[in-house]
Amino acid sequence: MKALRSMGVLLIVALLVAIVFVRWAEPDTAPDELVFLGGEIVTMAEPPLVEAMWVKEGRIEKLGSADEVRAAAGSSARVVDLDGAVLVPGFIEPHTHPLASALLGAAIDVSGFTHDSRAEIMETLREALDGFLPQPWITAFGWDPIMIQGLEPPTLAELDELSPDKPFVILTQAMHEAFANSAALREAGITRDTPDPQGGAFGRDANGDLTGAVLEVNAINYLLRALPPLPPALTALILRWQLADYARGGVTTIGVLGPVGRAEDPIGLLRSLAEDPHVPVRSIVYGLPTQLDTKLQPAPNHDARFELRGVKFWMDGSPYTGGAAFADPYEDTELTREGLHLPPGHMGPLNYELEEFTEELRRFHQAGYHVAVHTQGERAVELVLDAAESVLRTHPWPDHRHRLEHNALITQAQIQRAKALGFELSFFTDHIYYYGDRLPELVGGRVNRYMPVGTAFREGHGATIHSDNPMTPIAPLRVMRTAMLRIPRKGGEAMAPAERLSVDQALRAMTTNAARQLGVEEHRGSLEQGKAADLVMLSQNPLETPPEEIAEIEVLGTWIDGQPVDTRKASRPNLELGLRALRQMAAR
Ligand SMILES: [Zn+2]
Repeated sequence: MKALRSMGVLLIVALLVAIVFVRWAEPDTAPDELVFLGGEIVTMAEPPLVEAMWVKEGRIEKLGSADEVRAAAGSSARVVDLDGAVLVPGFIEPHTHPLASALLGAAIDVSGFTHDSRAEIMETLREALDGFLPQPWITAFGWDPIMIQGLEPPTLAELDELSPDKPFVILTQAMHEAFANSAALREAGITRDTPDPQGGAFGRDANGDLTGAVLEVNAINYLLRALPPLPPALTALILRWQLADYARGGVTTIGVLGPVGRAEDPIGLLRSLAEDPHVPVRSIVYGLPTQLDTKLQPAPNHDARFELRGVKFWMDGSPYTGGAAFADPYEDTELTREGLHLPPGHMGPLNYELEEFTEELRRFHQAGYHVAVHTQGERAVELVLDAAESVLRTHPWPDHRHRLEHNALITQAQIQRAKALGFELSFFTDHIYYYGDRLPELVGGRVNRYMPVGTAFREGHGATIHSDNPMTPIAPLRVMRTAMLRIPRKGGEAMAPAERLSVDQALRAMTTNAARQLGVEEHRGSLEQGKAADLVMLSQNPLETPPEEIAEIEVLGTWIDGQPVDTRKASRPNLELGLRALRQMAAR
């Protein structure tokens, strides 16, 4: 009897806890009408600065003085007092890989952000691999021979010693190389007789035996395909957490430039998450050619938090593996010889022949896809522009919005040609912040025209800047700071100071220009009557902050379509996904 009574008490307590917890986890839904006032509102349109804004059913109804807006809105709108904070159009990250970020977030961190030497990394790995690890494959992420001086690649013997039985893979920070132990090579079906895939390679020694090195995307895919899948709801949960990370950085829309990462149907997963009206960012997706069907045209959906927009190709590889297709060879230095094992005179390869790529471009262009291409070296840029010229001659599309991505050494003439052909340019300027101290060892005097985003602006491009996360951490204000200062993390002089952006250009890159590149400029990117209320609240006005201090500005919150974004890990949709993941794991 006593036992029964205490059971009953326990049940009641559990029920109360559950009620409180679910209520607490309930997303905060804003009323249909809001009036923002009590701070500055930066519009990125005319007029550039206003006092107040009225939002009705997710759209901007009126901007102006506090008195005007209050009078127009009437008494039913809820007032949001900015209390001296600053409202800016939500940041738009035009190039990132949320699924890869989410899954790599669960890997052992061996990055140069957290380690200073090879010994420290090996210690991290030994400690991590020493204990019990429930996952069937062990992954580490962030191996970085550029940021960490003298970081020799791990040998197959080292990898096998760390993990004799379980498949174990280390992915480099540049994500263009991996190191696999014997168990991982075996499970991936990679043997000494496996031919190198196009644009990729399996490392081999002088005898032709595998070294465990796996180079470039097409070869790394062998390993990704062999990784056992996680329960779908668990993948969805960690992806949703990842999307909240963008929101914490002030981002309201992301461009997913190639949904890479192991999930059965990455595009379907992003689409299904976005069915929840509270998902923390809008995703505009450029699928891999293999993930898309050109018989179906991408249809704009301006109110949803998911849009399929285009296709992503890789024309060359990373500057940090020898993969960038520069016009002139890599420098012959200790870093290129000993660190990257590149022979003197090394030239990065192109992933496509002209004819082959022209056909691919034509296929997606005709089907109405925006085509984005990874191009680091001049030869990669040139091939894409050559292909585009012949495709556009027979199939004109004046407003195609095809894009060149990263553009480390694009030349001024190519920037002009890209403009004439209607191409958009997006730059990965944070190479300068994280790798600037080592770049002269890779490209020598060519650092004086590295990531020429200033030239792109001068030539009339509405260029953008991106983090390519997980390649670098999510922080739009840091990305802006790098573009304005161009000073490496380790200090020193500004690199190619003529390429520096003004704060106005940097903020345009993050808002209006990025909206245009992603094809959403009619609805997002600036605060104007009729546009969506996608907002970020900041502690200070970036336009009035010295560039050195801009990354210190705090992000106080974001709104999408006038709804506050919930970034808590234990939000209600996350709890529901967590429960579903537990059920899926139990059912295995
Ligand atoms: Zn990328």
